[in-house]
Amino acid sequence: MVETTADPVAQDEEETMTTIFSKIIAGEIQADIVYQDDQVTAFRDIEPQAPIHILIVTNKEIPTVNDIRIDDEQLVGHMFTVAQQIALREGIAEDGYRLLVNCNKNAGQEIFHMHMHFFAGRPLGPMLVRK
Ligand code: AMP
Repeated sequence: MVETTADPVAQDEEETMTTIFSKIIAGEIQADIVYQDDQVTAFRDIEPQAPIHILIVTNKEIPTVNDIRIDDEQLVGHMFTVAQQIALREGIAEDGYRLLVNCNKNAGQEIFHMHMHFFAGRPLGPMLVRK
């Protein structure tokens, strides 16, 4: 018999753990969804930092940029083409917009489920506040 130290209950719990974004994607938590397909879901940020602030979230739970795998390259590229479509729909493609992805603590990442911030609706100022 092969012995294992893994606790099957703990393992099951880990597998069913879902982020708040997964709950939005599944329709269990309300959000203002502006776009959804089989790969990504985009909804308005609950605390907008620009007149238009949308999150483009992978339907698959990838915690951080560090966890992106080669197999995810198409998915990550898709986030950009969805950003393009959202820019057209929001009518700001020509005026411009900013796409931003935070990774881990120094970037202030709060939700560990891969997402791209889409900011638009006014001149967005310098990329970073100098300190
Ligand atoms: P980050 O710091 O890159 O992880 O960004 C997380 C973002 O998720 C923040 O801008 C939050 O305001 C936003 N957020 C958190 N909970 C919700 C929610 N339930 N619906 C929409 N946006 C959310």
